[in-house]
Amino acid sequence: MSRPRKVHVKSFGCQMNVYDSNRMADTLAPAGFTETAEASDADLVILNTCHIREKAGDKVYSEIGRIRMLKDAAEAQGRRMLIAVAGCMAQAEGEEIIRRAGAVDLVVGSQNYHRLPDLIARVQAGEQIVDTEFPVEDKFDVLSPPTREAIHRRGISAFVTVQEGCDKFCTFCVVPYTRGAEVSRPVEKVAAEVKRLAAAGVREVTLIGQNVNAYYGQGANGRPSTLGQLLHRLARVPGIARLRYTTSHPRDMNDDLIAAHGDLPALMPYVHLPVQSGSDRMLAAMNRRHTRKDYLDVIARLRAGRPDLAFTSDFIVGFPSETEDDFRSTLTLVDEVGYAGAYTFSYSPRPGTPAAAMESQVPSEVSLERLHRLQAIIARQQRDFNASFVGRTVDVLLEKPGRLPGQLVGKTPYLQTVQVMAPPSLIGSVLPVAITDIGTNTLFGALTEYAGMPALATAGA
Ligand code: SAM
Ligand code: SF4
Repeated sequence: MSRPRKVHVKSFGCQMNVYDSNRMADTLAPAGFTETAEASDADLVILNTCHIREKAGDKVYSEIGRIRMLKDAAEAQGRRMLIAVAGCMAQAEGEEIIRRAGAVDLVVGSQNYHRLPDLIARVQAGEQIVDTEFPVEDKFDVLSPPTREAIHRRGISAFVTVQEGCDKFCTFCVVPYTRGAEVSRPVEKVAAEVKRLAAAGVREVTLIGQNVNAYYGQGANGRPSTLGQLLHRLARVPGIARLRYTTSHPRDMNDDLIAAHGDLPALMPYVHLPVQSGSDRMLAAMNRRHTRKDYLDVIARLRAGRPDLAFTSDFIVGFPSETEDDFRSTLTLVDEVGYAGAYTFSYSPRPGTPAAAMESQVPSEVSLERLHRLQAIIARQQRDFNASFVGRTVDVLLEKPGRLPGQLVGKTPYLQTVQVMAPPSLIGSVLPVAITDIGTNTLFGALTEYAGMPALATAGA
């Protein structure tokens, strides 16, 4: 009997890639592939890549080098290992990947994962393939759904892609080129996927999309539906305790979605709302299509409907021609909003984007110095935000066993990790936890409904 085949999928970059990696594994399961956590053990290694910044691409090429050594070692033992490169870098670089890294057998773009079983069969027959066409069929209709076992293994919190692509064309960004135009999945197809997840024990769903709040999927009445309407529909799925969505664009934060934050207890009070810069001159050069005031107005409207909302954001420093004054506007915006956390990036020129050809590129040492100043402020805000929970009781979704015996790890509504002493039977429950202390990235607490449970010591956090 032939040995069962194993696939190892490694994700780089955003949550959309994590979701896509799972769907690739699901689609290869009917072709006889089981997932393995070890690349050395695999018959097929898929690198699901990111192209957003130059560093992301460098990481992938060094990973291909490492996998090539595993491939050579497998071949020395008479075993064949295939290497596939998927995701945004595959879409952007195509043939170039095979030219630079001859050990790669297959390059598959982000819209073609449903073709994987067929592509793998052809590669096994000796072809080297680059498939980066944007297909006419809807990949979501033809990708295999996960098995109950796979859902279970991946845990009680799941991502569901509801929207893909971007029509915004920020001048620094490759996404509109690598992921194509904005497309939204119909409401009932998303609801069916969420119901299947819930039936297998998933309690929290994060709706994802490059511009998730630009969602316009077809509703049950045949008309386009907003993200707010989709969230209302999903909040009715039995078993789903928590809903989240990411990543939003400030321009698409419509009244419907703002109202949903006030109306839906299942919708968590935590919004990732990238701003990139606090300077109107930079926002215009970035083609963000919103001003600093527009952004602050959106934040104020969201807070008016749900005062306990917390925000995170993305920032780019050192965009071409950014002056010290522009950068200071970013710092004052950070002070004005007060974030629970943020991703901060130094501008990375991406081939083919308008900003890469702009004059007055900022020297890297200037960008780096600004990045450090911004990061210090964000780190302080994040620490203060976490510290404000000590002495409070918050609802925690208990997710999985912790490192210590008898310990569980869960999440607050604000995605903070919490460690508590609790029996494994409580995994999947949302329970009030009295927060007693904070570590670097973790809160510590005790279940208030299980008074016998001691609070965790903070040592080793
Ligand atoms: N769609 C989201 C939005 O509108 O903000 C963001 C998607 S992008 C995958 C994630 C983040 O990467 C962006 O918000 C931006 O801060 C950062 N990013 C994108 N292109 C970049 C570049 N060329 N250099 C540095 N950071 C970049
Ligand atoms: Fe990139 Fe801008 Fe689209 Fe976000 S909105 S994915 S930053 S082009």
